[in-house]
Amino acid sequence: MTDVMIEAQGVTKNFGDLEVLKGIDLTIPKGSVTCIIGPSGSGKSTFLRCINQLETLDGGYILVEGQPVGVKIRKGRLHAQNHAEAARMRENIGMVFQGFNLFPHMTVLENICEAPVRVKKESRKAVQDRARVLLERVGLSEKVHAYPASLSGGQQQRVAIARALAMEPRLMLFDEPTSALDPELVGEVLDVMRKLADGGMTMIVVTHEIGFAREVGDHLIFMDGGGIVEQGDPRTVLREPRHERTKQFLAKVI
Ligand code: ADP
Ligand code: MG
Repeated sequence: MTDVMIEAQGVTKNFGDLEVLKGIDLTIPKGSVTCIIGPSGSGKSTFLRCINQLETLDGGYILVEGQPVGVKIRKGRLHAQNHAEAARMRENIGMVFQGFNLFPHMTVLENICEAPVRVKKESRKAVQDRARVLLERVGLSEKVHAYPASLSGGQQQRVAIARALAMEPRLMLFDEPTSALDPELVGEVLDVMRKLADGGMTMIVVTHEIGFAREVGDHLIFMDGGGIVEQGDPRTVLREPRHERTKQFLAKVI
């Protein structure tokens, strides 16, 4: 067994003539929290989407627990993954977005149970029991039968986290999970994420919450212009950024 969750080497991604990722090298150990900061348009979301196979790579590779994303090795040769193989890999990865993206016509419980029942074909009863435990963990036991529209943004995002966890992922990706929230609701979502980290979940978190990165992150990455400009221990990077671009960015967000 390897203790590496993700290994990325030379990852490139273009949209037409636009080079969005210009060679990302990264290793993410299991059980770690990696925070990614950087200006808008620097490629943070695209990188997460590549890990989760919502985008295809143009160069380099990403291994998730040793398995190459997007390709399959058969008889010593590389083949494009078929749909089912890609879906199976994605089942192990939970993703939480800036917009909560709950199904509006379903209750909280139905939102959480939908994917495990439909995709993993688990029994509804077993999934519902797990969903109730998850709702307790995110502090929303009393909202089991509520509809998303009746919840605050912070509550909706906590449901979205519980929904991702219901698939029992081995890796959680967060793309600016608190950016759409009113300031007074940010803390409750970060608290849930902090507990998840304390429980040993491997997490990659794109965020502007520098305090979270400092206190919860094991590793901090600063991206700009499609590349990693600087990375390291969060406290060190935040206290003594080595690159001018990192300094300028931090001066704006802190
Ligand atoms: P970030 O998350 O750091 O703000 P993104 O990864 O969303 O950055 O975007 C990086 C660059 O790629 C931006 O210039 C953006 O406009 C461009 N981009 C992202 N997705 C697409 C797409 N589907 N088609 C064309 N350009 C895209
Ligand atoms: Mg983004």
